[in-house]
Amino acid sequence: MKTPVKIAIVLVVVSAAIAAVALKGNKPEEAAPPSGSPPASTSATVEADTVPAPVSAKLPKLLDLGADKCIPCKMMKPILDDLKANYADRFTTVFIDVWENREAGKQYGIEVIPTQIFFDAEGKELFRHVGFYGKDDILGKWKELGVKLAAVGPPEIVRETPVTADARPRETVCFMCDETVPPKTRTVVKGATDQRVLCSPHCYFIYFSSLVGADAKAEEGKVSVTDWASGNLIPATTATYLYGMDANSRPTVKAFSDKQNAAKEQQASTGNLVTWDVLRSKELATRCAFCDRAVYPEDACGVKFGTTHGYGCCTHCSMGVAARLKQDIEVEAKDGFSGEVIRVRTLNGQIASLEPATAIAWFGQNKSPDGKWVSAGCFKQGFFVNASNLQKWLDARPAMTGRQITIAQALADKMKLSPEQIAKACKLGECQ
Ligand SMILES: [Zn+2]
Ligand SMILES: [Zn+2]
Repeated sequence: MKTPVKIAIVLVVVSAAIAAVALKGNKPEEAAPPSGSPPASTSATVEADTVPAPVSAKLPKLLDLGADKCIPCKMMKPILDDLKANYADRFTTVFIDVWENREAGKQYGIEVIPTQIFFDAEGKELFRHVGFYGKDDILGKWKELGVKLAAVGPPEIVRETPVTADARPRETVCFMCDETVPPKTRTVVKGATDQRVLCSPHCYFIYFSSLVGADAKAEEGKVSVTDWASGNLIPATTATYLYGMDANSRPTVKAFSDKQNAAKEQQASTGNLVTWDVLRSKELATRCAFCDRAVYPEDACGVKFGTTHGYGCCTHCSMGVAARLKQDIEVEAKDGFSGEVIRVRTLNGQIASLEPATAIAWFGQNKSPDGKWVSAGCFKQGFFVNASNLQKWLDARPAMTGRQITIAQALADKMKLSPEQIAKACKLGECQ
């Protein structure tokens, strides 16, 4: 039976990540636990260790003292589950609810929940932390304390050289998305000395939204699109566009030099006939909340911040929204291979929860001429529910190079950016 309130709970306003528990008449120094395992009286709430070997007593231990209903404690739960599942052969992870088990709170001298205590294999306390503690920080602390965490699970996937080099002629590859350009939607931007080939008017608007300080009118004058009927290039601003939708509600854009041909195609397929100006406003209506690129919602990651719903144009950009807005976010991404949903929540710039816990990220990178690894851009990033899905995705992309990283790393890479770097993020030639 629950003993009525001897424990007063105070929510610390400065940081939502900390809940405070005052233990009446119990000074922390009196309550300092003897080094060693928790007393037998707490065993009812100690979750069973999942250590396979009989030498389990010789493993270091992470003890989290919290409560079922405190918010930061709830955010610790998936992290503890993850550690229990994936690091069971390195250290034991134990949770004690101090609202259910006040004795344990006293014994360990707990004033604030959640508190995490790190014990060595002999049961000696090495370190304690108060408040929400992210997975990477916990693993980093173990490392600092000398507990080896490597060699758990399969090695991370790294591909530094393409399995097969990309042999496609440059003029057949989209400058933005790297897909092979369909002849019927080929779009060309003329430069002073060079021309850029894009797979579609949509990729032109992604390109346009990636330019720094571009003048829309001047840029538009350089764009040609392919007439759906004749296959000839025509000035983009003079064309009529059939703006339709495919089976997945993703927009389709067909260009026509002749309005009558557009109307004929409209009868055969459906959609609306629009001018370049209307097409532009539709294409630029939805933007990445991190890098400001144009994106179709159907291709994007959903990002919730406060009560607002926005989009990240790629999985890594979706993490960047937390950095740009300095806000906690909830991301709904799709596995790059299977489309399965991956949910990420952040708290104070760290991962608060990840579903499924096995989810990982791919950081697509290219080697620059000076030998440095640089981001291969938004179209070469992804999240996957597990490494096997990532491998299948890579098998279909033999020219792709990069490395597997954790989703926490994808977030950390964005959190360390300065406001100046964020302002330039994903802009052409400035990709971070
Ligand atoms: Zn493209
Ligand atoms: Zn973006």
